[in-house]
Order: sequence, then structure tokens, then C-alpha cells
Amino acid sequence: MIVMKFGGTSVGDAERMSAVMDIIESHLSREPVIVVSAMSGVTNLLIEAARAASRGEDRVYREAKATLLERHLQAVDQLLARSVERVEVAGLIEDRLHDFELLCRSIAVLGEITPRGYDAVSSIGEQLSARILAAALSARGIRARDIVATQLIITDDHFGAARPIMDLTRERVQALIPPLLERGIVPVVTGYVGATKEGVTTVLGRGGSDYSAAILGACLGAEEVQIWTDVDGILTADPNIVPEAHTLDELSYEEAEELAYYGADVLHPKTVAPVHQAGIPLRILNSFNPSHPGTLITSSPSPNRRAMPAIISTKGLSLIGIAGNSQEWGPLVGARVLESLADAGVDILLFTQPLSERSLHLVVRRQDQRHCVRVLERALSGELQRGIISHIGVREEVGTISVVGRTSAQPAQTVPRAFAALGRRGTRVISVAQSASEYNISFVVPEADVDDTVRYIHAELGLDMAGGL
Ligand code: ADP
Ligand code: ASP
Ligand code: MG
Repeated sequence: MIVMKFGGTSVGDAERMSAVMDIIESHLSREPVIVVSAMSGVTNLLIEAARAASRGEDRVYREAKATLLERHLQAVDQLLARSVERVEVAGLIEDRLHDFELLCRSIAVLGEITPRGYDAVSSIGEQLSARILAAALSARGIRARDIVATQLIITDDHFGAARPIMDLTRERVQALIPPLLERGIVPVVTGYVGATKEGVTTVLGRGGSDYSAAILGACLGAEEVQIWTDVDGILTADPNIVPEAHTLDELSYEEAEELAYYGADVLHPKTVAPVHQAGIPLRILNSFNPSHPGTLITSSPSPNRRAMPAIISTKGLSLIGIAGNSQEWGPLVGARVLESLADAGVDILLFTQPLSERSLHLVVRRQDQRHCVRVLERALSGELQRGIISHIGVREEVGTISVVGRTSAQPAQTVPRAFAALGRRGTRVISVAQSASEYNISFVVPEADVDDTVRYIHAELGLDMAGGL
């Protein structure tokens, strides 16, 4: 039995879902358990709409509902044209999006999104994509059933980034999944979603479908967990930026964990631990190029593989600055900021507090910037009134670049050479975070400089050469 997770771009429309079904069909003999993300962009839209509702902007969530309805129904029309399930699936989509509208309406009345409300809204996308994919598989003659993971993944009530309770989850997974497989049914499970013991819906954190796949794989003792995305595995750089980037064929769990920790998108940071503990191989594959072997992560990668660092970059982030001008400014301000944003479901990707300057900086997703400033203005209204804080605002659009790992030829050179590349390129570095090892470093730079700087670092590390180092 294997677990196959398909990300948002891989299920972005009817055509992509058809390609995914071809991939599933070619793996049927390995008893696949499928995990799906929401169609690309859907979770963002749901969250934006809920936040707009909290500001009383009714029009935004009504428009979001119409957009989501049209997009999903279009996929249904194309995939289920001749299916008996077509009407039922369309009905479910309408019902779920009606629930979404009701949720937004109550958020508008309250004037705020509770952590629980955030999870209820943001988990809707996976329910729609899983239902459509399961019905489309059935229409192809492959018996399939969608399962909302509220039934499977039991978590604590840390809304926004809930943590699984593994023994309870294992019990549920073991009770529900093997009987389906025995009957030749392909389970299609919603990624990202879980529920508390009491049955209240939770989510595992943005990008958390990878984590869902790893949790299910560990609970089922899967042969392999496959993460199907839109690039050929983990590469020396994002191939959309550096076309000559090379795939890292093999990594150890420890290397992958470090990479995922710094790497934001390509692999959710929590994904490696469950499969590492269970000793299950993890593979990153490309649903747009399924014959490519991708990246294989195991406990014992081949000793003569080429060791190459990876440059992981993320755009679409914002730097938020909080400035103070009083003697009362102190570390407690930072603590308040972190606490209030965690409660409001805003991920902080980087945080610096140079006390000497009475300021602090946060990096958040661009999508979260407006909400983040609003939450901070509320949480710190006392400090703003008393003049302890003089300003809270968006400073600039930024991206992060992380360089993780070492080269076989010059193991200790990764960090100095990354710095040299920044110097040559003249990139303004806004912030730096380095891990305890000399093999990892992350930079925050202006967004407009990300692509060019990634290309400079890739060249400086000698990674452009044919075949890599
Ligand atoms: P999914 O929707 O399948 O979960 P993500 O968008 O979360 O996919 O992650 C894959 C993306 O990660 C790629 O499309 C690519 O733009 C980005 N990425 C950044 N750096 C790298 C890298 N070094 N190797 C592979 N992908 C990278
Ligand atoms: N749909 C969720 C998100 O966009 C989870 C995922 O795609 O992994 O964050
Ligand atoms: Mg992802």
C-alpha cells in the first residue's frame, strides 16, 4: 500500500485531474491511498473572503462564492459529463459553498474570525476537490470514495496549526482505510484537515496536505509516501527561476528535514518526522512529468550520490515593521506580538527583534499582511495610545532565499560562497538567519531581487555546470 498526495496545481482543473487519474491508474496494483489539496488558489480565496467578511465587506465573500462555484462546477461538467454522480456532486459543492457563505455572514456579524471559524472556512477547499476526484475516478471505472479527514486525523485544538494525536489517529485510520482497500476501493482523503476528539474541524497549517500524507502513511505502515507536485522533486533551485537546476536524486531524512524546515513551500516542514520515525521512504514527484524519478528520501541514501546544496526561494511575502520610541519598549512587546498573531492564525515566517533599535520585524505571507497589521493594531492598542509603540506597518515586499546543504567538493563553502554571490550581485540583505550548522543560511531580500539573486548563488556554488558538482 502506498500514499499518493497531489498538490493544488496538480488538481488545479479538469485537465490536471485527468492527468492525476492516469497516474493513480498506473499505480493501482500498489493499493494507493490518495490525499488531495484544494484546487490551486482556493484556500487563499477562502481565507481572504473570511477576512473581508470580518471587515464587513460582504461583497467580497459573495463574489468569492460565485468564483468558487463556477470553478468547481466547470471541473464537474468536464469530468462527470456522463456520470450518474454528476448531480449529486454538484449538489454537494453548492451545499458546502452555501455553508461557506453562512460562515462568512456570521463572521461579518461578529466582526472577527475566531480561530475555530478560520479552520471551518479554510478546510472547505479540500472537501470539494476530494469529492470531485473520487467521483471522477468512479466515472472511469475505478472504485473510489472520498473521506473527509475529520474522521481520520484527530488533533489537539490548536486551531490554524493543529497537532495530530497519533494514537487516536492510528486507531481511526486502521479502522477505516484497510477495509476499503480490501474491497478494492481507492480512498481519496482531504489533505490539510483534521478534527478534535469532540469532532470540531481543525487544519494542520498552510501547505499541510504534505503532512497529512505523512501522518496517514505512518499510521498505515505504507510501503512509500509519494508527494506529487509541479516540479521534478527537490532541485538545486526552483526550476522556474533556474532552468538548468538539477534534481537532488537522493536525500537522507535528516537532510530533507533541514531542507523542509527552511524551505517553506516545496515540502511542509512537519512532513519528514512521521515517515522518518516509521522508516517509510518519501518520494517527491512531478505530476506534470510522471516518468521523472524525482527525489527519494530514505535513511540510507546511496553513499556515492552527488551531494549538492539546494536553494529554496519563496516570494509573495511582506516585511512588517513595529517601531517604538519609549524606555518601556522591551522584549515583552515581542512576546505580545507573537502571541496575538498565533491566536489570529497568522504564520510568522521570520522574526527579528534588535532591542538596541526598539523595533521589530516580521515576515508574513503577503496574503496575511493586512490582517496581520489589523490584529497587531488591536492587540497593541494600549501600547500605541501610551506611545510605547509609534508605528505598525508594512515596510516592503520581500522574499526569502535559503541555501541548505553542502557540496561534496568543498563542504564548508556553502555559506561563504552564498554571501559572495550576494555581494557580487549587490543584493540588499534585509535580514539573515543562520542555523547552528555552517550548512544553512536564510536571507530576506527585496522581492524584485529574488530571481536574479537565486541565479547568482546557483552559479557561485558551481551548480550551473552540466551534471552539477
Ligand atoms: P504543491 O501545491 O504541490 O504542494 P508547492 O507550490 O507547495 O506545491 O511547492 C512546489 C513549488 O516549490 C515549486 O513549484 C517551486 O516553485 C517551489 N520551489 C522553490 N524552491 C524549490 C526547489 N529548490 N526545488 C523544488 N521546488 C522549489
Ligand atoms: N490547501 C492548503 C493550503 O493551500 C493545504 C495544501 O495545499 O497543502 O495551504
Ligand atoms: Mg505545498
